[in-house]
Amino acid sequence: MAILRIGDDLYFNPAQLAVGFARAAQSCGVELLPNMTANRVLIEAGRVTGGETPRGVIHAPVVVDAAGAWTRQVAEASGIRVPLVPTAQQPFVTEPLSGALATLPMVRIMDAAVYMRPCDGGFLWGVYEEDPKLFDMTDLSEDFDVKDLPLDAGVLWQYARDVQAQLPILLKAPVRKHRGGLPTMTADGQHIVGPAPHVRGFYFASGCNVAGLSISPALGDVLASWILDCAPPIDLTPLTISRFGEGPWPEDELRKQAAWQYRHFYGAR
Ligand SMILES: Cc1cc2nc3c(=O)[nH]c(=O)nc-3n(C[C@H](O)[C@H](O)[C@H](O)COP(=O)(O)OP(=O)(O)OC[C@H]3O[C@@H](n4cnc5c(N)ncnc54)[C@H](O)[C@@H]3O)c2cc1C
Repeated sequence: MAILRIGDDLYFNPAQLAVGFARAAQSCGVELLPNMTANRVLIEAGRVTGGETPRGVIHAPVVVDAAGAWTRQVAEASGIRVPLVPTAQQPFVTEPLSGALATLPMVRIMDAAVYMRPCDGGFLWGVYEEDPKLFDMTDLSEDFDVKDLPLDAGVLWQYARDVQAQLPILLKAPVRKHRGGLPTMTADGQHIVGPAPHVRGFYFASGCNVAGLSISPALGDVLASWILDCAPPIDLTPLTISRFGEGPWPEDELRKQAAWQYRHFYGAR
């Protein structure tokens, strides 16, 4: 059984990261429009001209589609396909436990695809499921919220039994919260960042493959240079959508590969 401990791993509250970026942008003079839906990106003669929102058009020569699980809907409303698949990820957060110190390291049991870290006086733990739930956002209602994501606690308990010799606490600790989210998986497990091939001014920052938080400052930085200088500061060809060719990407094959990437997040086993 392979267990990985990385001494200088960090963990943080994901919501704080988004708020931190928003505050930093605001302090640089960016106007934020929270809870404003982008219905579609407006394109004329192969160039982005703006975005359509319920409150009217916002004129802009550049748009970055960073709509997470909805990246495809935003792009496809403007005729651009994106090969990524929203995939459910659903950790438990336990009640506070004596000894669950915030200074304890993250633990990843690679062979069993189970991870655990301290969280609010207890532990947060989750798994990379063998048979992940993949979503097509067009099947969900327009007012669907990620907090309404259907979750399956049974899957987590099954994995907890697999690692009871290493982490017996998982079966014993009372669960305080069962959270869910929809990271976006791609066929090769890498992000989709950079320009859309045939539309000037249309960029992507998506396909996070359950690793978008850690890399987000770097991706934001290179994407900003890419937009301003019309070229990335380093070769990012392996992250562009063009690496997948012109398509069409058969949906069945894409979902098969996305699920493979998800279940092998800790490497092929
Ligand atoms: C349980 C769980 C554990 C994770 N653990 C880690 C980890 O340990 N390390 C790590 O690096 N990453 C982790 N991730 C992944 C990380 O959360 C994602 O990579 C990251 O949130 C993806 O960011 P994003 O900007 O692509 O999408 P999101 O964070 O989903 O942001 C997309 C935003 O776009 C908005 N939006 C959608 N449609 C529209 C529209 N039409 N108009 C306007 N706005 C729209 C959404 O409301 C949302 O606010 C985890 C994810 C989950 C769910």
